[in-house]
Amino acid sequence: MERITLNIDGREVVTKKGKTVLEAALDAGIYIPNLCHHPDLSPLGACRLCIVEIKGMRGLPTSCTTRAAESMVVKTVTPRVEHIRRIAMELTLAAHPFDCLVCSSNLNCQLQAVAQYLGVSEQRLRAHPRDIPVDSSNPLFEHDLDKCILCGRCVRACHELRGVGVLSFIMRGKDTYVGTAFDRSLADANCRFCGACIEVCPTGALRDKNGLLEAGKSREAALVPCRNTCPAGIDIPRYIRFIYEKKYAKAAAVIREKVPFPMVLGYVCDHPCEGVCRRGDVNEAISIKNLKRFAAERDTGAWKKSSIKAPSSGKKVAIVGSGPAGLTAAYYLANLGHGVTVFEALPAAGGMLRVGIPEYRLPDEVLDAEIDEIRQGRFEIKTGTRIESLDNLFEQGYDAVFLAVGAHRGTSMGVEGEDSPSVVDAISFLRDVSLGRRVKTGNRVAVIGGGNVAIDAARSAIRLSAKDVDIIYRRTRHEMPASDEEVDGALEEKINIVYLTAPAKIWQENGAVKLQCLRMKLGEPDASGRRRPEPIEGSEFITDYDTVIAAIGQMSEVPEGFQVATGRGNLIKIDNGDSATSRKGVFAGGDAVSGPASVIKAIAAGRRGAIAIDKYLGGSGIIDEKLAPAEEPEAWLGCEQGFACQQRREAPCLPPQQRSGNFNMVEHTYDEESAVKEANRCLSCDLRLKISPVKFPPKRDSTKGSQ
Ligand code: SF4
Ligand code: SF4
Repeated sequence: MERITLNIDGREVVTKKGKTVLEAALDAGIYIPNLCHHPDLSPLGACRLCIVEIKGMRGLPTSCTTRAAESMVVKTVTPRVEHIRRIAMELTLAAHPFDCLVCSSNLNCQLQAVAQYLGVSEQRLRAHPRDIPVDSSNPLFEHDLDKCILCGRCVRACHELRGVGVLSFIMRGKDTYVGTAFDRSLADANCRFCGACIEVCPTGALRDKNGLLEAGKSREAALVPCRNTCPAGIDIPRYIRFIYEKKYAKAAAVIREKVPFPMVLGYVCDHPCEGVCRRGDVNEAISIKNLKRFAAERDTGAWKKSSIKAPSSGKKVAIVGSGPAGLTAAYYLANLGHGVTVFEALPAAGGMLRVGIPEYRLPDEVLDAEIDEIRQGRFEIKTGTRIESLDNLFEQGYDAVFLAVGAHRGTSMGVEGEDSPSVVDAISFLRDVSLGRRVKTGNRVAVIGGGNVAIDAARSAIRLSAKDVDIIYRRTRHEMPASDEEVDGALEEKINIVYLTAPAKIWQENGAVKLQCLRMKLGEPDASGRRRPEPIEGSEFITDYDTVIAAIGQMSEVPEGFQVATGRGNLIKIDNGDSATSRKGVFAGGDAVSGPASVIKAIAAGRRGAIAIDKYLGGSGIIDEKLAPAEEPEAWLGCEQGFACQQRREAPCLPPQQRSGNFNMVEHTYDEESAVKEANRCLSCDLRLKISPVKFPPKRDSTKGSQ
């Protein structure tokens, strides 16, 4: 690129040919006031704040529209320039709300900063205030026309950056305002809700709803909530974009950059990202989990050629437990060159993925394939090997241990008679079913509890021999911790949920289990924030069952021989942040530390454990891999009729009448057309972070006049 040299305020400035005087000055650290200019947009020259004097040129040209030329001599600060700039600013402010110059709510208000820089502290020219109410009728954005200075940055961003063309100047002369044709709602005008207009607006006339950027979160966390809510930090908008572009292997590689189990997550992730998805404010959240499964099913393994395989570190790590936390830690530690062995007490690897999640949600062959993929050539798994003492492991030469033993013991209900032989805990029940052990439930089954484990147990029972299954829960559906889709699945399968009911006593009589329950009412919120159930006196009733399954909680089994400090609920205590237990060289993560949690949280704990152990062993702790090409995203979204109305696409499901008597997979996968259409619904919230920042004026020395 050809370079030219010009003189700005007595300084020699070298810039690329084609740049404007304003760009050349700003690049060289010489500030020229401006408002309608934005580095990513075509110049307009409307605000006239960037005027300069140029030797040999008549008048005061706007530096944003004047190309820099070889040997050009520019003065950015002269009495005439300053005088005209102040008048331009005063005219800009004439119809502006007076309090804008002193307000402190929008600390990033460029208008206020430039006005202060120019020394304009009052509105000498007053036009009639417009007093137009803030328009909050659209999803995600607010429009405060009173604050608009008609700089047109939003209009240009909508047209030039995104190719959507929703915003334009409406009317003419003093009646001009920024809006949509025929004042249609943004949704009706085919807005893509990308937020580019908000990002470039210098005044807050267009802004995010609900003080999005003022709530103490980072910009990144506020603007791309899906990615920041994922416990493992999967780059969700990036893989969704690859699916839209039909680059499925690259989408799978993006997911693998943060998790070694893309397929498992595509089947069973509890998708906290969907709860915060900004598309949900437009109509319905993106089906992020189903898109993950679609991408994982089209993984060609192309990512392997970019995967880290560090040379041997000479260090050995023992992982106790082969659930998602343990296997995640094993994968990353092996990649970093450590010799890893995973010890599993059960006859098969997978931990709760294997024995806590029924096959109709996660088939064994899917889990087997995923474990094989990450294990092959990396680490060994010794199944059927229970570890009771860590001393033995250290004696065998292991340099560090990661405890990921899960929470495999059901907690007791504290109800008289619960030790009856026909009462089982849900964790043992699900484990026996998963391992193919002979399990008999009889026709009538009661499941006590309201979490996902209770639902899994009830839905498993109906697939065995049970005809009638009651889930007995002491609060209402509103407070139920189980995910909505699991509860809906249970209801589809004719499982009866008995709300506001708690067990009181159990006994065996005439071959049946008698379950006495009490009706409950909700009182004040308890420590969990949910309303506390309170028994209704005299409401006892008795029901006959063949089996009662208790699903009210799980705890961890931590052998004495581990010699690590435990806390409430027998959970292993770790140092916040680095997974280290009270014992040197021993780290822990997953359900054994947090209590029962989601698969993605366990994976995130495995990642933290791997980082901490690698650092402990002298490594950098850097585990992330660059598996997908760093392609710049397409920022040109284009106009699409009816974009805001596009409904979320659900994956097809096995009809309820075909589910009893088998453990066939219930939720199927997207076909290609559905996946691409669902991916296209994404608002591409991350694009907003790629918009260049504007240069704010330097802080003025208040003892001097304007420069
Ligand atoms: S809404 Fe903001 S960006 Fe758009 S013209 Fe008004 S001040 Fe400029
Ligand atoms: S719309 Fe897309 S980028 Fe935005 S939060 Fe939802 S999934 Fe993430």
